[in-house]
Amino acid sequence: MKIICIGRNYIAHAKELNNPVPVQPVFFMKPDTALLPPHNPFFYPAFSKDIHYEAELVIKINKNGRHIAEKFAHKYYDEISVGIDFTARDLQASCKQKGLPWEIAKAFDFSAPVGNFLNINDFENKQNIPFSLKINQEIRQEGNSKNMIFSFDQIIAYVSQFVTLRSGDLIFTGTPEGVGPTQIEDHFEVFVGTEKLLEFNVK
Ligand code: MG
Repeated sequence: MKIICIGRNYIAHAKELNNPVPVQPVFFMKPDTALLPPHNPFFYPAFSKDIHYEAELVIKINKNGRHIAEKFAHKYYDEISVGIDFTARDLQASCKQKGLPWEIAKAFDFSAPVGNFLNINDFENKQNIPFSLKINQEIRQEGNSKNMIFSFDQIIAYVSQFVTLRSGDLIFTGTPEGVGPTQIEDHFEVFVGTEKLLEFNVK
């Protein structure tokens, strides 16, 4: 499986990082080795001094497809969770400055903790799914799929023009505003609505 991540999908987050608001989705990938196994801590990597959290809704692809039309895209996923797109912001800034790809800042081992999945059809409206991140009991990020620039279906239609989607692939759909640095000893809890789907410690 692979992990596809959408960047700059919330206007307020694009602005907080001084990025332009995109007219097309921006995506990058993390390998399957970026998954953090359940119940494991996230170990702060030695190569960065500025690891940021980005809480995101994550959808799971349930069948193979390419060149998927937006109107059929809803048939390609039926589960949703939350994940953290850990980012080495210092390495990313240096890559951006040099015009280099972001992999060392985004695709490193265990940079993608993902929670338990819920059936997306249990939600009344897919375009209105609230989620939040608490660190050490304090709310750090709150988002809602209604504020995404590109919807789940638009993301699937766009990405599948370039990359075949396979059953089991995950799509991180972008982070709202409020990203920030994490510290050793932080305790993460990530929710969809009031349901806690992901919890881990930083060591
Ligand atoms: Mg992200």
